[in-house]
Amino acid sequence: MFAAEFEYHRPKTVAEAVKLLRKVKGSRPLAGGHSLLPAMKLRLASPAALIDISRIAELSGIKSTKDGLKIGAMTTHAAIAASAVVRKHCPVLAETAGIIGDLQVRNRGTIGGSVAHADPGADYPTILLLLDARFTAVNGKERQIAAEKFFVDLFTTSLKHGELLSSVTIPSMSSGASAVYLKHRHPASSFAVVGVAALVQVKKGKCADVRIAIGGVTVTPVRAKAAEKLLTGQAPTPENIARAADAVSDAIENPLGDPYASGEFRVHLASVMTKRALIQVTG
Ligand SMILES: Cc1cc2nc3c(=O)[nH]c(=O)nc-3n(C[C@H](O)[C@H](O)[C@H](O)COP(=O)(O)OP(=O)(O)OC[C@H]3O[C@@H](n4cnc5c(N)ncnc54)[C@H](O)[C@@H]3O)c2cc1C
Repeated sequence: MFAAEFEYHRPKTVAEAVKLLRKVKGSRPLAGGHSLLPAMKLRLASPAALIDISRIAELSGIKSTKDGLKIGAMTTHAAIAASAVVRKHCPVLAETAGIIGDLQVRNRGTIGGSVAHADPGADYPTILLLLDARFTAVNGKERQIAAEKFFVDLFTTSLKHGELLSSVTIPSMSSGASAVYLKHRHPASSFAVVGVAALVQVKKGKCADVRIAIGGVTVTPVRAKAAEKLLTGQAPTPENIARAADAVSDAIENPLGDPYASGEFRVHLASVMTKRALIQVTG
């Protein structure tokens, strides 16, 4: 199918893009186009205008700052996967970016486009929730949004109309903490049927700063708080890890299901994968 007619604008600055987004009714930013263009061809989306942000230099790039890693919204998955700065300061993010889709998807798709699209099977939302990332939105002035407030529903974020996501900031991980992202990928699309991210710091034989995020199972990723609590202050023994992993289901309400994986199966998978992730980060 062909997309419905639309206007096309290619601003060179963030200020110009924001002005266009506000001025042109029904307009949407175009980043890598890997989610928006297929949706337009299927007529699931028919924006009146595309504001192509791909030539805005200030939206791309990765910097290490005092607040952590600052990644421009137009930075591609491939650039994040290959970045020496990301590999040094937050290796789990580089590893996650490296398993998104295939090479073509990673070369075009952007971190900003992925999180703004908020697909429940996307990989960044889960890892960014785990890492307590902050999102910077601009619309004249800047607004910071915490990851746990950013993803609000299926394909829905707390970005307001006319707001452009300019960057994602990932706070530095405490030294000694170890993190991993595991995904059970859909064989056709590579999206996560279930994605589990875990972070633990083992101090004097006990687990501290335990964080577990589950994606793909519900409309937005969730933190498994009951499981985190069960493991905090405990030794990472197989029994304690199994007990925490069993509690992951407490965090999951209304699991998603489809012909490939039922809700019940996804919940089971989330628990099994959490166990594997916890063994990996505490081993
Ligand atoms: C075959 C295939 C396999 C894939 N596999 C995976 C996978 O395994 N894991 C995974 O996570 N993803 C996967 N994806 C999705 C891929 O990562 C997309 O690139 C991503 O979801 C969207 O990024 P984009 O830059 O292409 O955004 P676009 O498609 O350009 O935009 C997506 C949405 O975000 C909005 N938007 C874009 N940028 C901004 C911004 N800066 N501010 C505000 N709104 C913005 C757009 O208006 C649009 O609504 C796959 C895609 C394809 C086609």
